[in-house]
Amino acid sequence: MKIAISILIVVMLAFVGSLFFPKLVIISGSLIPIPTDMNQNFLDQVNECFLPTAAIYGYDPYITSGFRSMADQAKLYSEGRTASGTIITEAPPGHSLHNYGYAVDVADRKNGYTIDWTKLIKIAAYCHLESGGPGDLPHFEYRGGLSTNDFASGKRPPPLLLPCPVMIERARSGQSLTLADLKKCGTPEF
Ligand SMILES: [Zn+2]
Repeated sequence: MKIAISILIVVMLAFVGSLFFPKLVIISGSLIPIPTDMNQNFLDQVNECFLPTAAIYGYDPYITSGFRSMADQAKLYSEGRTASGTIITEAPPGHSLHNYGYAVDVADRKNGYTIDWTKLIKIAAYCHLESGGPGDLPHFEYRGGLSTNDFASGKRPPPLLLPCPVMIERARSGQSLTLADLKKCGTPEF
C-alpha cells in the first residue's frame, strides 16, 4: 500500500512538474528534458572541425538537416507510409539522433550527393563523428556508444573534444582552417 501511494505521489509530482515545465517528459517516473535544439557541443564540432576540415580536402559541405522535433520526425516517418511520397527514414520519432540534437545530414554545394563519401566519413571520424553507414551516407552523428533508448532516457555521451585546438581560434576569428594548421596536430588518415 505504501509503495502504491509512493508511486502515485511520484506520478502526480511528475505530472504537475510537466505542466509547469512543458519541455519535460515523464519516463519511468523521472522528468527528462525534451530537447528543443541542436546540442551545442556537437554543433561546434561540426562547425569547427568537420566542415572546415572537409573544406581543406576539396569539399564544400553544408548542413541540410539538423535538429528535428518528435513532430518533425513523425511527419518524416509518415512519408511513404501513411502519407504520400517515398520512404525517407527508417527511424520513428525518438529513434533518430536528430531528435536529440546529435545528428546532421550534409550535402555538397557543388556536387550534391555525388561526392567521395568514403573520404568524408574518414574526415568525420577524425572529428570523432560517426557515419550513418552505407544506407544513410549524408548522415553524421555522435552517440558515443549510447543507444537511442539511452538518449530517450536522458543519457548523453561525454563532450566531444577538437583534435586540433587551433580550430576554435580559426572558427571564432572567421579565418579559414588550413592544411598547415592540421599538420601541427595530425591530419585525417585516408
Ligand atoms: Zn540524418
